[in-house]
Amino acid sequence: MVRVRFAPSPTGYLHIGNARTALFNYLFARHTGGKLILRIEDTDRERSKKEYEEMLIEDLRWLGIEWDEGPDVGGDYGPYRQSERLDIYNQYAERLLESGHAYYCYCSPEELEEERKKALSEGRPPRYSGKCRNLTPEEREDYEKKGIKPVLRFKVPDGRFVIFDDLIRGHIEINVDEFGDFVIVRQDGMPTYNFVVVVDDALMKITHVIRGEDHLSNTPKQILIYEALNFDIPQFAHLPIILGEDRSKLSKRHGAVSVRAFKDEGYMPEALFNYLSLLGWHPSDDREILSKEEIIEEFDIKDAHKSPAVFDRTKLRWMNGVYIREKIDINELTRRAVPFFEGFGYKADFEYYKRVMEAIRDSIETLMDIKDRARPFFIDEFEFDERAKEELSDETAYTVVQRFYEKIKDRDSLTGQEFKSIMKEIQKELKVRGRQLFHPVRIALTGEHSGVGLDILVDVIGIERVKKRLQRALEYFG
Ligand code: GLU
Repeated sequence: MVRVRFAPSPTGYLHIGNARTALFNYLFARHTGGKLILRIEDTDRERSKKEYEEMLIEDLRWLGIEWDEGPDVGGDYGPYRQSERLDIYNQYAERLLESGHAYYCYCSPEELEEERKKALSEGRPPRYSGKCRNLTPEEREDYEKKGIKPVLRFKVPDGRFVIFDDLIRGHIEINVDEFGDFVIVRQDGMPTYNFVVVVDDALMKITHVIRGEDHLSNTPKQILIYEALNFDIPQFAHLPIILGEDRSKLSKRHGAVSVRAFKDEGYMPEALFNYLSLLGWHPSDDREILSKEEIIEEFDIKDAHKSPAVFDRTKLRWMNGVYIREKIDINELTRRAVPFFEGFGYKADFEYYKRVMEAIRDSIETLMDIKDRARPFFIDEFEFDERAKEELSDETAYTVVQRFYEKIKDRDSLTGQEFKSIMKEIQKELKVRGRQLFHPVRIALTGEHSGVGLDILVDVIGIERVKKRLQRALEYFG
């Protein structure tokens, strides 16, 4: 039975890279019929915030990732928040101390800093000297008497290689001499990441640890702790980092990097889900638009790529456009669009918003595009730009608008179809066609030079607003 986990630290918004990690865990769990566990790693008391935890949960759900066990849904292996597991960590720290795999270290931060500098200046990798490894009981007592609080260090066996097969990166061998005895419980009694993650993964019966490559250097330390505690070692899969388009590590410099930012920028969760699944994986053929079910069906962590994935915003935008155009039911799409309409100051009821969405969904890529695309459906008193002024000052253009107005001024409705036949009449009467015929009307009705079909526009905004806009243009240019 596969059991995987996503273990975010609630210290900020859900980053795209972490969302990809969560997603790959989710996909692997669903593909194998296993379980996904959400564990909140909040041992960094300074930086962890409850609000961030809530937002993480909200953003994961928004993206369409569900978990089987977690702080909010419960489960048999809880608690699922590290801050609630401190007693458990203490027990295991005690065990490591008793079995001689850990020892108290009283070295002061200054001393350690000194040592670090020295190593660096001599071109050696900085690592703890092991000074407190073999303190006599008297020496220890002496420190205690002075009131010095120790840290607990893990005793790294000398001259060993840690060897493991990463499901993505293959065979890995690491010489433990690269790192010294590392801290597993801090002075303030808080256990460190490398220690608690092992205790949790073991007790939560995690079978596969799928996480970012930035944790690769932690893995040998963690394996040593697994061994010292006689725990079964899970399989590891380290996902390559995500790069920006300039091939440097994806960061805020590249624009939006949190799931929340994409949500706020009008992205569809289904599109982001689809896009993220392709950041370091692809199906057996060259399909790019895949449903959640199709991805789950095909996904295997063994097929995840080894080389870094480049985050391509243009492609994500394009994909989002496909979802907006083709994949989301119009009622649902409109529901999602309402806050955007409102945010842009476009006031109307749901039915009207829906008609506007029907009219513009083919021409937008994100809900932010509503701002420009939907403007003609809401704004009657727009500005005329220089080009518009020039074009409507032309006599023929003005006459077209005038003729159109005359033909509709006594009507009390105007469908798209009726609009089309009226324009045909004008074409015959004035002997103008194509752009010369339609563009003046477009300018008069919208102030713009391109956009939604005019038949659709008049149909949605209705005859009264059409009249009002025409009158305004005729007055302005008359
Ligand atoms: N809390 C760690 C992080 O957010 C989790 C690392 C892990 O998956 O082991 O990076």
